[in-house]
Amino acid sequence: MKQLILFLSLILMISCSTDKSSDKQKWAIAIHGGAGTITKEGLKGDIEKQYIESLQKALETGKQVLNENGTSIDAVEKVIRFLENDSLFNAGKGAVLTNSETVEMDASIMDGATLNAGAVAAVTNIKNPISAARLVMEKSPHVMLIGNGAQIYAENNGIEMVDKDYFITKKRKEQLLNRKKKELDKHGTVGVVALDINGNLAAGTSTGGMTNKKHGRVGDSPIIGAGTYADNNSCAVSCTGHGEFFMRLVIAYEVSSLMKHEKQNIKEAANKVIHSSLEKLGGTGGLIALDPSGNYAMPFNTAGMFRAYGNSSGENFIKLYK
Ligand code: ASP
Repeated sequence: MKQLILFLSLILMISCSTDKSSDKQKWAIAIHGGAGTITKEGLKGDIEKQYIESLQKALETGKQVLNENGTSIDAVEKVIRFLENDSLFNAGKGAVLTNSETVEMDASIMDGATLNAGAVAAVTNIKNPISAARLVMEKSPHVMLIGNGAQIYAENNGIEMVDKDYFITKKRKEQLLNRKKKELDKHGTVGVVALDINGNLAAGTSTGGMTNKKHGRVGDSPIIGAGTYADNNSCAVSCTGHGEFFMRLVIAYEVSSLMKHEKQNIKEAANKVIHSSLEKLGGTGGLIALDPSGNYAMPFNTAGMFRAYGNSSGENFIKLYK
């Protein structure tokens, strides 16, 4: 009898510990590389393959950080740095040009556990603007630094600076010439949202803005609440699209607000801001969002949005088009 009781308690102990491990908070990551006129016909030759390979590497980079118990902030910064260094995307090297043929970059990052945030805007010589945004968040008493002030602060704190020419590519020069004949367009920002094993959410966004923008123009990407937002009690969001619309609708915060106050789930909230609010105002773009359980939403109202997702249960995908 004694032996039977011992055996049954052992079984109970094992099943309890199994339940616990399946309850363990999982990690998840979502990435975007911009929304816009992204179609199969538009990505000719091996360009489609190049985007897929780069998104795959970005996803692997983030997954590795989170799988090794790294923080969501580290995952966001590391993946965005990778995308900033890849000239395919409109952030860091390969950023789009202003109407004065210069590069002016914006970036922001937010920690959902503390609501701390940092941003830089209109920077021209910082190799990885996302790291400067993180520096502002962690080391300065401010949320946003712009232009020369941001650059001096970054340089004095060991952030890598480069010559302005480093960012400029042939593709973006041609794009500017074409764009000058028409209106503002072309998206291609990068953004990451991540959930780590401690249940902390983080979000970050980095961009060159919009082709042919006026010198001095700042979009939604470095504005906390417009282009980026993270709160452990609701979600992490990174936006991409026509910034003037995202700013006026405070899109990233609106997703969080609908979840918190209207009790909408991540898909309902994200779809509402993109397919109802943004569309009604005539704006284009999309966003990526993660909730504290790792559920995601990736709505957009353009032809395509470069996007990727991965989590600790082995779910993975990379998508480009609708
Ligand atoms: N939202 C960015 C901006 O307006 C551009 C983009 O996402 O493509 O600066």
